[in-house]
Amino acid sequence: MNADQILLGYPEKPSNPALLHRRFFPSKVGGQPAWLNPQHLPPLSDLQCPRCRTPMTFILQVYASLDASSCFHRTIFLFGCQPCGNQFVAMRNQLPRDNAFYPFEPPDTDNVSGVGDEEEDEFKSLLCPVCGLPKGDGEAGSSPDTSPAAKEGRRGDDKAALIPRGHRRCRRVSEDGMLVGVFEEYELEVDEEGEEDADKQGDYSHEMELKRRYDEVAKDNPDATLDESEQQFFEEFAPPSCRNDDTFQTFLKRVRTNPGHVLRYAYEGAPLWFASAQQLEDGPPDCDTCGSPRVFEFQVQPELIHLLKLDKLEWGILAVYTCSANCGGEGYVKEFVYRQPEPM
Ligand SMILES: [Zn+2]
Ligand SMILES: [Zn+2]
Ligand SMILES: [Zn+2]
Repeated sequence: MNADQILLGYPEKPSNPALLHRRFFPSKVGGQPAWLNPQHLPPLSDLQCPRCRTPMTFILQVYASLDASSCFHRTIFLFGCQPCGNQFVAMRNQLPRDNAFYPFEPPDTDNVSGVGDEEEDEFKSLLCPVCGLPKGDGEAGSSPDTSPAAKEGRRGDDKAALIPRGHRRCRRVSEDGMLVGVFEEYELEVDEEGEEDADKQGDYSHEMELKRRYDEVAKDNPDATLDESEQQFFEEFAPPSCRNDDTFQTFLKRVRTNPGHVLRYAYEGAPLWFASAQQLEDGPPDCDTCGSPRVFEFQVQPELIHLLKLDKLEWGILAVYTCSANCGGEGYVKEFVYRQPEPM
């Protein structure tokens, strides 16, 4: 993705999941994060919910190079807290073209073998096998497991004792099924934002008429429905308080012009606000690390909630702002996420 353009990200089932490996620099939704710098991972403390301290869950990552030589490879990662549902964290990471981890030349997407070597095993041992986030201090797995069960396993079968253990949360995930360790994985296909249909400018009556008819029919006959996409559209995007909100109408129109996208990328641009209420009034806070101003980079659309069946997470839009100086060298730097809630 490049500056000066508005780009949209469409989720697609990956044609070849191997291409979502970090060495192909993917933009993707769900699955485990494809960490760009595999050596200096962020500490788990940066990825724990600021409110409840639970390790967050990976939502998506956007590969977004910039012109600066230090940003030849550059990825923004987004995480959310499942128990809280309204806490989000973004991390930025970048590498120059000449770096210790990836070849100078672009990867050959026809050749996906070579993944799974020793280096990869070592890298994986740093991560929770369930969610793909770094294991942390005070979490089992960062040190040898000395529980009686593990000792037992070690005597019986050396391999069993070596199975890497994940976060306490993630072990619970597999036991009670209340939370998920990873969301369903999709590749993000990038396309330019299409023009709005000039004839439709300012005209919203079609959708409102559909809605009126839907309400009427549904009242008399609970089984009658509009076709699936229409119904989904109303359930997803039309909270009652928004029906007369111009900002919401604009949002809806732009979204409907390019149906199905979950990401809107507009580097140094502005968010397309979901509604007039609860926009970020005073702009984003300056970078915590270097003090430079932050710029808008992308927003995640509510369509993603529907796609991933996220009954735990909620937003109108998530607007991600990043440090204009792209500070932090080759390390991971925490960035700012503004959650504009969906009005009730
Ligand atoms: Zn939380
Ligand atoms: Zn985990
Ligand atoms: Zn900075």
